[in-house]
Amino acid sequence: MTSYLLVGFAAALLGAVIALALGRRASDEQQAPAGAAADVEPGDPRASLLAAFEEPVLIVRDRKVAAANDAARALLGAHIEGVDVRLAIRHPAAAERLAGPPADPAQEEKLHAEIIGLGEASRPWLMSVAPLGDGSRLVRLVDQSQARAAEQMRVDFVANASHELRTPLATLLGFLETLQDDEAGGDAETRARFLKIMFDEATRMRDLLDDLMSLSRIEAERFALPRETVDLVSLVEQAKVALKPLLSGRKLVLENEASGARVAGDRGQLAQLLNNLLVNALKYGRPGTPVRVRIAPDGEMVRLSVIDQGEGIEAEHIPRLTERFYRVDASRSRQVGGTGLGLAIVKHIVLRHRGRLEIASTIGTGTEVSVYLPRADVTETS
Ligand code: ADP
Repeated sequence: MTSYLLVGFAAALLGAVIALALGRRASDEQQAPAGAAADVEPGDPRASLLAAFEEPVLIVRDRKVAAANDAARALLGAHIEGVDVRLAIRHPAAAERLAGPPADPAQEEKLHAEIIGLGEASRPWLMSVAPLGDGSRLVRLVDQSQARAAEQMRVDFVANASHELRTPLATLLGFLETLQDDEAGGDAETRARFLKIMFDEATRMRDLLDDLMSLSRIEAERFALPRETVDLVSLVEQAKVALKPLLSGRKLVLENEASGARVAGDRGQLAQLLNNLLVNALKYGRPGTPVRVRIAPDGEMVRLSVIDQGEGIEAEHIPRLTERFYRVDASRSRQVGGTGLGLAIVKHIVLRHRGRLEIASTIGTGTEVSVYLPRADVTETS
């Protein structure tokens, strides 16, 4: 509804500007010469106003297309000016709104219509009509495909998140039911085993909820450029301590302790980014092999790379790894305690920092994930 209102407002505003440009009043409506369609010459203010729009825009008068901008000609045909609007926009909803008498502006639904089938068959358009006050109507066609894709992503995300939470919850409920039954609950050993599984499933749900909350917090802050000065070397030292329980004897090696390791950032989020990359390197790297962290200045950025010696990732998966819940091997990820959100969080933190993420991997050798973050000294002087 908001997009309807905005589109309607913009169209009405343009309508007012055009009416002003033409020096016409609303009461001139009856005096508009019949058959004055296709009468917009180059140099006419309407032509330059229409040209200012990127999306397809037309002026319709007496059922005919009186003027069209380049985008409208590209979508509907090069020679639509002067053509009956029902032929120019072949859609019943368009014919109803453009070939009949002008609609009452209070009737929102008469001024807007969803249209599919113009140009690319499946592309959805929102047509909005604004009466111009001189008997003609301004028609805007706004491409809805991006809005639809965003909406679809949101729907998929909610469905995926619900599914991810429901699976451990179902396991928990199943074991709870069993434990309630004295006989089925079995001996102390069996109960301890069940409790361990229940604990792991509850932990998985907690981790998932923590990651979901992190993602939404990071997204909420995406336009606020972080301004702290963060020393990446000290972050790595901290991470080494925090991850000790996960290392089980493996080495976490910091290479190139460069002095230019200070970046402009959000310390908490960068600690989370580093943690996610290190945890992945430990999870997917071969047992016993070291994980290396390399920090090096790179122009106006600092490059932070986490390198493991693991199985590597097939090239076809790499572009999708930062999608929420995308996993190369779902059961492996779950088995090692993954939520499927680690790299999505990394991507969003990098975006907020106006940085860049690169993933390079060789099957059988390992994976190197690099993030480029703005150097603090560059940001301070700019
Ligand atoms: P998860 O919680 O499943 O690890 P991520 O978003 O962190 O989720 O990673 C997405 C997927 O990318 C993982 O499930 C795994 O298949 C793959 N992946 C991430 N990092 C590595 C790595 N260092 N080596 C191999 N595969 C990796």
